[in-house]
Amino acid sequence: MTTAVSPSLDSQQGADLAGSVAGTELENGFLPAGPGLERYHSDWYGSATVVAPVLRPRDTEGVRAAINLCRTRGARIVTQGGMTGLVRACMPQPGEVVLSTERLLGIEIEPRQGTALVGAGVTLASLDAAAREHGLMFTVDMGSRGSATLGGIISTNAGGNRVLRYGMTRASVLGLEAVLADGTVLSNLSPLMKNNTGYDLKQLLVGAEGTLGVITRAMVQLVPVPNARRVSLVSAQTLDEVQELLTAARQGLGPMLSGFEVMWRDYVECALSLPSASAIPGFSFGELAVLLEVTGTSDEACEEALASTLGNHLVAHPEADAIIAQSEAQADALWTLRDLSGEAATVFAPFAGFDVSLPLSEMEGWVGDIRAKLAKAGFERTQFYGHLGDGNLHVVVGLGDLRRKEEAETILYDALAGRRGSVSAEHGIGLSKRQWLPMSRTPEELAVMRRLKAAFDPDGILNNNRLFNKE
Ligand SMILES: Cc1cc2nc3c(=O)[nH]c(=O)nc-3n(C[C@H](O)[C@H](O)[C@H](O)COP(=O)(O)OP(=O)(O)OC[C@H]3O[C@@H](n4cnc5c(N)ncnc54)[C@H](O)[C@@H]3O)c2cc1C
Repeated sequence: MTTAVSPSLDSQQGADLAGSVAGTELENGFLPAGPGLERYHSDWYGSATVVAPVLRPRDTEGVRAAINLCRTRGARIVTQGGMTGLVRACMPQPGEVVLSTERLLGIEIEPRQGTALVGAGVTLASLDAAAREHGLMFTVDMGSRGSATLGGIISTNAGGNRVLRYGMTRASVLGLEAVLADGTVLSNLSPLMKNNTGYDLKQLLVGAEGTLGVITRAMVQLVPVPNARRVSLVSAQTLDEVQELLTAARQGLGPMLSGFEVMWRDYVECALSLPSASAIPGFSFGELAVLLEVTGTSDEACEEALASTLGNHLVAHPEADAIIAQSEAQADALWTLRDLSGEAATVFAPFAGFDVSLPLSEMEGWVGDIRAKLAKAGFERTQFYGHLGDGNLHVVVGLGDLRRKEEAETILYDALAGRRGSVSAEHGIGLSKRQWLPMSRTPEELAVMRRLKAAFDPDGILNNNRLFNKE
């Protein structure tokens, strides 16, 4: 969004860094600050205000060398995966060098064990494709699958479309390898599910947003690709009606329920207007639409369970519409509507994106409250959608003028207070939400988090000032 750009390191530091990588393994992966580095300096919200040199180590030893080099040169590091994070965490700040994980590749699948040893820079889509060759899949899936990397999803403890069935990313991480700020390589790439031998250090790094170490490899759990799935779209007029369907689906479908996404009319209209959207002929959208996915052992079992749940719901709500995709292509087309959220948001640029969690019982009140307040403040363009089954709602607000961002944030977050909500369900805090973190964590929790950061990274070399506000 801001176009004024300045070098992130002073020229002496930049020259020192270039000189230091000469003749080392890092030289191949070194890109000095200058033109042509746009993709390391922009994300879904816009561009960075500084231009930083980029280090692209190709293995764990290279990451260690990069961290040691930056530490001795007085430079800080911002770690970048696929740059799909939505809290601006990857944008280089003054004095920082970019450490890109794009060359940390490699996938080794152990089909019998149902595990994969994966480089941090491997994308979610590549991991999933490799796993499917063995009849397996990775548990996490989301719209950013083509770019989001394993290191990024672990560092953000990403959620996505299948949390209902398989949990957040942390549930599938068996082992990790990471390089800490002092160059220590912390490696436990164990495939064991059970390992109660003291503090679970890997889980500290999961969701730490790159503030405690740079993840280089991970051992992850894979699961069998379900034999069958059915995807349906159901219309509704009220959130209460949607929640009734969720309760019935949980009871009637049990573990077969693998996705329950909700989209309000404002989101649907925007997504359907995009060139990449597929029309959904014959379906009458209501105020809301629910995308419901079941997976199971056979087509018949899925069809029968889904038809029974939807049948009961339609008896209670005869005005509702429901369709069940009749082919994999149709199922993919229904998911595309939901997966277009990233593209749909950019239609409203400049926009503010929100990712909150709320108890289901508070959701309707919160949505009604903020819709009224946003309208009163003159924010006319909104999109509401989310992973409702996980209590996670996304809201996009068209700002018109970027200077109104904090005003919109205040409306949404103030309405969370007293409703036991979280300012981030899955995207994390990064640079964008630091001032709001105390809404979701007690002073005691924040103090312990800061102590952990100081223990792992006393000089603030890694992802400095992300997650926490400057002291
Ligand atoms: C269209 C779209 C849909 C999305 N849907 C979802 C969704 O359903 N659920 C969800 O949870 N998120 C979603 N996201 C957000 C985003 O995709 C996730 O946060 C993802 O996990 C980020 O992965 P990445 O590789 O792009 O990480 P990046 O954006 O590159 O980095 C994210 C954070 O992780 C750190 N990091 C990256 N790699 C490493 C590493 N190897 N070691 C240490 N730190 C590292 C970075 O410094 C940064 O703090 C979506 C985004 C888009 C654009």
